[in-house]
Amino acid sequence: MKAKERMAIPRQQPRELDPAERIKNFKEVTFGYDEETAILEANRCLQCKKPTCIDGCPIGNDIPAFIQLLRDKKFEEGYWKIRETSTMPAVCSRVCPHEFQCEGSCVRGKKGDPVAIGMLERYLVDWMVLNKKNLFMDCKISRKKKVAIVGSGPAGISVAFYLAHEGYDCTIFESLPVFGGMLAVGIPHYRLPRDIIGAELYALKNCGVEIVTGVTIGQDKTLEDLRNEGFEAVFLGVGAHASRKLGIEGEEGTEGVLHGVDYLRRVLTGEDVDIGRNVVVVGGGNVAIDVARTALRKGSDNVFILYRRSKEEMPASKAEIHHLEEEGVRIEMLAAPIKIHTENGRMTGVECIRMELGEPDDSGRRRPVVKEGSNFIIKADSIIPAISQNVEHKADKGMEFKLTSWGTYEVDPDTLQTSVEWIFAGGDNVLGPQTAAKAVYHGKVAAESIQRYLEGESLTECRKFPCKFM
Ligand code: SF4
Repeated sequence: MKAKERMAIPRQQPRELDPAERIKNFKEVTFGYDEETAILEANRCLQCKKPTCIDGCPIGNDIPAFIQLLRDKKFEEGYWKIRETSTMPAVCSRVCPHEFQCEGSCVRGKKGDPVAIGMLERYLVDWMVLNKKNLFMDCKISRKKKVAIVGSGPAGISVAFYLAHEGYDCTIFESLPVFGGMLAVGIPHYRLPRDIIGAELYALKNCGVEIVTGVTIGQDKTLEDLRNEGFEAVFLGVGAHASRKLGIEGEEGTEGVLHGVDYLRRVLTGEDVDIGRNVVVVGGGNVAIDVARTALRKGSDNVFILYRRSKEEMPASKAEIHHLEEEGVRIEMLAAPIKIHTENGRMTGVECIRMELGEPDDSGRRRPVVKEGSNFIIKADSIIPAISQNVEHKADKGMEFKLTSWGTYEVDPDTLQTSVEWIFAGGDNVLGPQTAAKAVYHGKVAAESIQRYLEGESLTECRKFPCKFM
């Protein structure tokens, strides 16, 4: 096929559940491609000599290579090509914000729509599952050295995966009752079905990784206890689960005020959380979108998103924003909450103020500036701030870690070693809230460092995986 013909193929849109139907349940919204559509989409790839898409992928997947295998119908080989660099393509293909990563760097995006790389990756994963192919990799003979991993999110899973396949005896300690960290309690099922997380769990168990849920390090046992139990190195991948507060009057102690990640965690662990019919969600990222769409599915019928900038500046993925609006959530842009109104300790509404956009700030986005005298009130039963998350430091009990001014662990940027020699850290508790792929890559870097540390080698020489997000 000539390049001109490839350029003429439009981006293939996946089928989706009807909005009126899907807000009644948590079924996955987006269907995967069928074979014909996947190959058609794969044929849009130009197989660039300098594939910029790879630069945009946090884990450096060889994207043109797996796309070429897909269009040659070598689906199994395509899947294993991805697995050369990625521990969890099933998760990343569904939850990564591809438009800001690989697809955002695809040359076809310069004059039209980029190749749907995430959907093609997902096709290969789903093909393997549908055709009951083996997804496991060989594990090496045990080296009889123990590593503790604190947190079972993408960074922890990645560390355990690599070290277990190198023969180390890994145990993951998860404080929640379920495996998967933020994947399990921060991403609703309609975006990430639970059997996908289950597949990651089986891959780890297959290589002998022990998973201990319901144990909080720093509370049930300390890091020093782990060392005394024979764990020679520890990886901290506890994520960033503490909701950042709005800091406005009425936020504390008022019935009807919940925070984004807390709300998602409670709903996704099966709790029935009554937030009423009229709900205001504050924020413009994926957590805010997930909260609003979850609230709809749980029966709230009047859900607003309040965002202080314009829609173009929302950090959430465009597909998520599109789905949100299709489902009937209204985005109140250029507005911020300033006070929560209450009656007898219960919220009755939220006072907001209009904003306008000024000069760009450090993030490159235009700074929101208050429009004096533009106050207005939205009557609501609940407000759910979802404006970002901080790192909780429960695990640190009895230890003195160096922290950054953001409250994240300060680590060596090349090795991810913390200020405590035998403890490494990566993912959101180092980067702040970030994508699953970045956490997966951090896991890969940390696994190499831990292995070198355990074998008494220099941590910085002959590194396979230079850390690229620090
Ligand atoms: Fe294909 Fe886009 Fe990557 Fe080029 S940049 S190889 S077109 S996916």
